[in-house]
Amino acid sequence: MVPGVTWRPERLLIEREEWDTGVARRARAALPDVPVDCVDDVQAVRRDAARRTPAGDAFGSGKRQLLLYRERGRFLAACQAGTPGLVCCNYLTLTLVSNCPFDCSYCFLQEYLSANPLLQAVTNVDDALGEVATVLDAHPERRFRIGTGELADSLALEPLLGHAARLVRFAAARSNVVMELKTKSTCVDELLSLDSQDRVVVSWSLSPPAIADREEAGTASLADRLAAAARCQSAGYRVGFHFDPVVDYEGCEDDYRDLIGAVAGALDVARIAWVSLGSLRLTSGLRGIVRQRHPGSQVLLGEQVRSADGKWRVFQGRRVAVYRRLERWLREAIPAAPVYMCMESPAVWERVFGEPAPDAQALAGQLSG
Ligand code: SF4
Repeated sequence: MVPGVTWRPERLLIEREEWDTGVARRARAALPDVPVDCVDDVQAVRRDAARRTPAGDAFGSGKRQLLLYRERGRFLAACQAGTPGLVCCNYLTLTLVSNCPFDCSYCFLQEYLSANPLLQAVTNVDDALGEVATVLDAHPERRFRIGTGELADSLALEPLLGHAARLVRFAAARSNVVMELKTKSTCVDELLSLDSQDRVVVSWSLSPPAIADREEAGTASLADRLAAAARCQSAGYRVGFHFDPVVDYEGCEDDYRDLIGAVAGALDVARIAWVSLGSLRLTSGLRGIVRQRHPGSQVLLGEQVRSADGKWRVFQGRRVAVYRRLERWLREAIPAAPVYMCMESPAVWERVFGEPAPDAQALAGQLSG
């Protein structure tokens, strides 16, 4: 395997007109032994990938191929976590990759991308950066938080694509953006020699080993994620952490306390940009998919109730109790880092933090400083 390449698809598919783009050339060079197809009709390839035989797993097989294509539509969107009735942080998502080589049992993409499950990445990063630049330039008074980790892992494909390094160089030259690269991988090598001018936060989603080892197939171990985060800090990056999903199980609180201790022991806590908390939340459809695709998963064990947004969560009183403990341990171990919650109501926010939830602009301001 080419050095730095930790994952390879079974097949590489490249849109014919994109064959000689920088992204396609890089991927072909990094995957010399992987069969490559030239694709004339991208939509037909996507439709094929979504076709499900009775015993098939279209989503799983979609993850094992990689399509490189030109995106003709938009790249930026408001974060879909910004659901009415829930506290919002004005986050924008930038989609350069869709789907992910990892296979977490609880991943919402299993349902969200069920009609288009092929792992796919854009070749025209310049167009994406042009769209972002237009937005940044139109609002010089605002500071934007933008992340690529909504429909994908921001770094898992970096050795093949080089997208993130382009984003770091772009953000370094802009004064009103904080770019977040969110991952469960260790693919940071290419970032280490770049100076982000403090405009990039590399963040890791973390779970106790009891969850990571069982529910997050293909991802780096907790120790390896923390080691990668420490390398990023040493290279000058701020890092962030997402305890999301927080999974409730017997003994989980002790495990989360150990997890917070592991973070504080491995990192310079003064250079942690933020920590988010988000309880496990699954739609009814996703619960069915978890049962089907991950029969050994334990994320559906325990009592969960349907919330106002239609998602199933541990009931509110239990969520608040767990959040409060985590928040207290975080304040003790990582006092300077803002802690916020993702996809929770103002009522839960107030019960956990003891103060009214900030509006979206105020929360965004706290997190983009
Ligand atoms: S790392 Fe993130 S995007 Fe990838 S499978 Fe896991 S939850 Fe989904």
